[in-house]
Amino acid sequence: MKATGPETKEKVLLHLCCAPDGTVPWPDLLAEGYAVEGFFYGNNIHPEEEFRRRLDAARILASSLGCPLHVLSYDPQSWIETTRGLAREPEGGARCLLCFRLQLEAAGDLAGSLGFSLLATTLTISPHKDVTAVNAVGREVAARRGLVWLDRIWRKGGGFVRSVAESRRLALYRQKYCGCLYSLRGDEDREKKP
Ligand code: SF4
Repeated sequence: MKATGPETKEKVLLHLCCAPDGTVPWPDLLAEGYAVEGFFYGNNIHPEEEFRRRLDAARILASSLGCPLHVLSYDPQSWIETTRGLAREPEGGARCLLCFRLQLEAAGDLAGSLGFSLLATTLTISPHKDVTAVNAVGREVAARRGLVWLDRIWRKGGGFVRSVAESRRLALYRQKYCGCLYSLRGDEDREKKP
């Protein structure tokens, strides 16, 4: 469903995994006529200094678009406890699937409590993510709350390349690992764009 005018704009809560990944989905959804607010989860980002850097970048992006950004209060320990049994999983495995779910469940809870009708994520702009799995989790999370999931694959059609260019234009911080302590240990020598 598309918005038909300023009074009828549908509200989308956009789960923002990081600012660079939001540089295409967020303005594109605004251009489609939606009222878009961001949600930054962050419990999967370690250490705290790195979380702060990414949050600052998310705030810069939101401010550049003139849109609100909702931020979950930082509680990395809860994420570590929940994923503890999956510490040895490779990146892209079961831990990541659970991580997507934790992020999108939190987004769904906020969307429901704030009266949004639509839910979306920036996760599918990444060439490293299983976009089919992300959208499957998103659909299920949204359906359980009576929300509509915007089933998008943002990396299609040059989306990822655009996001790199936009991140540079806005001088956004671009991380070198996906986020959690496990990805930090595994990827510290590798330039990585989540
Ligand atoms: S590698 Fe990234 S997606 Fe996977 S568990 Fe860690 S933070 Fe989450």
